[in-house]
Amino acid sequence: MTAVPTSPFPASTVLGYPRIGPRRELKRALEAYWQGRLGVEGLREAGARLREGTWLRLAELGLAALPSNTFSLYDHVLDAAMMVDAVPGRYRRPLPEDTCFAMARGGEGAAPLRMTKWFDTNYHYLVPQVGPGTRFRAVPGKPVGEVREARALGLSTRPVLLGPVTFLLLCQAEPGAAEGFRPLERLDDLLAVYEQVLGALAAEGVAWVQLDEPALVADRSPGELAAVGEAYRRLGGLRGRPGLLVAGYFGELGAALPVLAGTPVEAIGLDLVRGGGDLAAACALPELAGKTVVAGVVGGRDVWRTDQERALAGLLALRARAGRVVVSTSCSLLHLPYDVDAEDGLPAGLRERLAFAEQKVAEVVELAGRLAAVPVDAPVPGVPVLAAGAGVPDAGRGAAGPWPASGRAPYEVRAAAQAARLRLPALPVTTIGSFPQTGELRAARAAFSAGELGAGEYEERVRGEIRRVVELQERLGLDVLVHGEPERNDMVQYFAEHLEGFAVTRHGWVQSYGSRCVRPPILYGEVRRRGPVTVGWTRYAQSLTDRPVKGMLTGPVTIAAWSFVRDDVPLPRVVGQIAEAVREEVADLEAAGVAIVQVDEPALRELMPLRAAGRAEYLAWAVGAYRRATSGAGERTQIHTHLCYSEASEIVEAIDALDADVTSVESARSQGRLPAEPGVAGFGRGLGPGVYDIHSPRVPGVAEVAGGIEAVLRVLPVERVWVNPDCGLKTRTYEQVEAALANMVAAARLVRERL
Ligand code: GLN
Ligand code: ZN
Repeated sequence: MTAVPTSPFPASTVLGYPRIGPRRELKRALEAYWQGRLGVEGLREAGARLREGTWLRLAELGLAALPSNTFSLYDHVLDAAMMVDAVPGRYRRPLPEDTCFAMARGGEGAAPLRMTKWFDTNYHYLVPQVGPGTRFRAVPGKPVGEVREARALGLSTRPVLLGPVTFLLLCQAEPGAAEGFRPLERLDDLLAVYEQVLGALAAEGVAWVQLDEPALVADRSPGELAAVGEAYRRLGGLRGRPGLLVAGYFGELGAALPVLAGTPVEAIGLDLVRGGGDLAAACALPELAGKTVVAGVVGGRDVWRTDQERALAGLLALRARAGRVVVSTSCSLLHLPYDVDAEDGLPAGLRERLAFAEQKVAEVVELAGRLAAVPVDAPVPGVPVLAAGAGVPDAGRGAAGPWPASGRAPYEVRAAAQAARLRLPALPVTTIGSFPQTGELRAARAAFSAGELGAGEYEERVRGEIRRVVELQERLGLDVLVHGEPERNDMVQYFAEHLEGFAVTRHGWVQSYGSRCVRPPILYGEVRRRGPVTVGWTRYAQSLTDRPVKGMLTGPVTIAAWSFVRDDVPLPRVVGQIAEAVREEVADLEAAGVAIVQVDEPALRELMPLRAAGRAEYLAWAVGAYRRATSGAGERTQIHTHLCYSEASEIVEAIDALDADVTSVESARSQGRLPAEPGVAGFGRGLGPGVYDIHSPRVPGVAEVAGGIEAVLRVLPVERVWVNPDCGLKTRTYEQVEAALANMVAAARLVRERL
């Protein structure tokens, strides 16, 4: 009935690969194209060279099965939307590249699509919009083109597509769609298009296609699981199709595993690093005997060498029960830098312990060789436990719990003491911390780290920038000032560079979104503070003004979330150690006379477990770590926090427990929905809903900002409301920032007069 693929799945593969380029070639090409310095042919050429480089390198490393369609000019979810033509009319342009960039970056009056985090990673994808009337249509040019490109190099590849169920679960309902419409309702229509894409790939002679379904590692309703079964029974029943690998990653497939195993798909990809529990579950499934298991035993989210013995034990256990076992990575290697060998500045002994994308591929190849060398009739070991950190005792410095309740006086007591000390007007106006990072500043930092600029001269430049930022804020009339963070390349890397236990890389760039990359630090040892980190800069800023200057720190959860962390101790303990360091910094700021300290935790939600079962435990230790970091502050010291999101149901629970005196959140982009969110009315502490969207170059008008403030005043007492932008100003220009802040101050004054 069904065409079964004739060629077995090759012995080793990876689910995906970095695409920004070993020297961020894609970033440069994209930015040149956007600035009109490079034509579309040049952009296409740059992409083709990167794809070619990746395939040739993977083949050279000995990888048996090469993925394709893992390259993207901007984002793979956006590519998936374009592949099924889920492109709202306002974004359509003559060139597909321009259509893609219009959706990603906006233009000609159309706001870009919403951007949000890809599961629990720090990668951002664009949220496609699907409505009841979206006309799906197969546009398989990109995956087909990549197959042909690779073939021209003499290589066969396995196109990787975002799976139809995950695609629809990630989409948002098109604005204006009927209340209650869910994109998943369109599954049938979408499957018809996937069938055509699979047909087009089969016509190219493709033997295997990978369908990524990471949404299946989160809790899924019975209806959604039924949709998974339906989708893969239908695609599996397609005549003359390629072999299908369905990959779930970032956790356990759990209940979705038997559902997938009950469909005709030939191969299932398991994340055996984060979803170790799937190993025993898979081994117990009778259907497995007829399937290929693509066993993700090499971690795609960490930078450590694989414990080969443990991985091999898992592979052997699977091989005894599955039709076939393929060695693979736990997920795409998108989240890793390219090559550890490019790093020459790492502390002694660390490099040998590290594996970036290239090294992970080499491990996959090596493990496949070792697996093949074990005779199939050798005695089979029991099913090993593969869960990360399994069996590691939680003891020693920073050990989790019991977390302090708070240790601070009740909020009302603190609020009164702080009001008496700070004497701020109603609706105090402030910012989130960073001011624009100018080209001169970046150049000075680069010259300083290259040894071309002396420390004294560099510090003088930073002080000059602090003066400029303080003067600007005084002139504009802000009430609580910041120093502007000019000394920080990045809010996490800066602290990593100043704490023991962290290493930073030179070329370890990882795509965050589009052309934006980050260099996550590597947390490899016990974290300790060498000495004060921010005190000098904050004290200098405070010396320039009579208004209060906020000290600005990054919280322990965020530092851990945006770093590669150790896996030989439990995460709560790692975060606990960072919390101790932050606590010491808070104490030093306080001792230096700083009256307000902001400890940012924008990643608090990002690390939230994908399944509900782990969330209470996570929040307990994450919030506990935050309190550990901040609860040493006396009642006269005002603790602020900033979170980059505003979904209030999640906020209220967590924010309340953080016990900060003032919390600023995103709101501007959610069109002022915040005041209406359940739980915000009656929120018992200071709240600064962002009234200005810093993610867009647009300058908001006075009336608009005033309207936003008044909406908040309808649900919160005036003494708890703050006025601020919705995030740091680092990515904006001074011109935009001056105009927007001036309007924000004018709006606050206007509303004050009406009080
Ligand atoms: N204080 C940081 C800044 O202003 C906060 C950034 C963030 O929320 N991501 O840049
Ligand atoms: Zn933010």
